[in-house]
Amino acid sequence: MATTVLIIDDSDTLREEILRTVKGASLFDTYLEASDGLEGFKTLLNHRVDLVLCDLEMPRMDGFRFLTMMRARGEFQDLPVIMLTGREDRETKIRGLEQGASDYVTKPFDAGELVARVRVQLKMKALQDELKRTNELLRKLSITDPLTHLHNRRHLMETMEKEFQRASRKGGHLSLVILDIDYFKKINDTYGHQEGDRVLATLAEIVMKGLRAYDIAARYGGEEFVLLLPETPLPEAQTIAERLRGEVQEHVFNGSLQGQVITISLGVATYPSPRVENIDSLFRQADEALYRAKQNGRNRVEIMNGGVVEKMAPAGAQILVSD
Ligand code: GH3
Ligand code: MG
Ligand code: MG
Ligand code: MG
Repeated sequence: MATTVLIIDDSDTLREEILRTVKGASLFDTYLEASDGLEGFKTLLNHRVDLVLCDLEMPRMDGFRFLTMMRARGEFQDLPVIMLTGREDRETKIRGLEQGASDYVTKPFDAGELVARVRVQLKMKALQDELKRTNELLRKLSITDPLTHLHNRRHLMETMEKEFQRASRKGGHLSLVILDIDYFKKINDTYGHQEGDRVLATLAEIVMKGLRAYDIAARYGGEEFVLLLPETPLPEAQTIAERLRGEVQEHVFNGSLQGQVITISLGVATYPSPRVENIDSLFRQADEALYRAKQNGRNRVEIMNGGVVEKMAPAGAQILVSD
């Protein structure tokens, strides 16, 4: 990616000199200039910048003010800023560092020193970015089920807590769908555990494809999945569950599973409703509905006791769910 430096100084001569120095070291691809803090700040807002070299004493907006404004915004939190100052005194340097300067260079500057300090800042920024990427990757791994790439149970429970609180605060509907593969033991026994795993991964793909932006899908247990549907009343959740049931049944597997029809049973519950006052009872109602779906022959959707039964679309009809 192209690296960009922003040079802020009110003296044209000095800006030229700094420019020549950093250009000589070939550290950047793009060079931006500004003649005071305000212009510099505006430039920052309009360009992606990797490092700032900033004078301290300037008209309109000086280097201190520039630093304060910049650090107040989250997106510039990690941007390295090297201050250039004609003043040697300790107080000025300490104040600048406290306000978020990354380093100091004293004017008149030594070209070699300036380049070396720029290099250090760029290196530290690169390491910091790398660390951030690694942390983000670890965070994702820690909330993801490795086989299906759906959320894991722990993350589901955390999200559930938040969504439940939101629903009870705002009075919206939060629906829960629990689904379980029918006769999965037989799939494992017939085709082997590895093919069983492939069924799980495929099911997860089908589930994920149908999700709306704010829905959450998780692998709850071995071959049990959970859908958490915020802002979704029971009839709508039932429609989503029914559509999913149909999609799984219709899926054509390849390889050794070719010709094998896999089906799922689903239980749906919603909050708020007379029997659901907390997360536990929401789960219990969905689980009981799933149990009834199994009892009533599998490959079906059952809703919680006391839920309003919605008229199902005729078999084969496409059910469109709006988002
Ligand atoms: P039912 O229709 O009543 O649900 O019948 P079932 O055979 O699916 O019964 P159950 O839900 O109790 O079976 C769960 C099976 O899922 C047992 C276990 O071997 C299998 N299983 C659980 N986790 C995994 C997994 O990660 N990979 C594979 N291949 N199989 C798994
Ligand atoms: Mg100046
Ligand atoms: Mg099961
Ligand atoms: Mg099962």
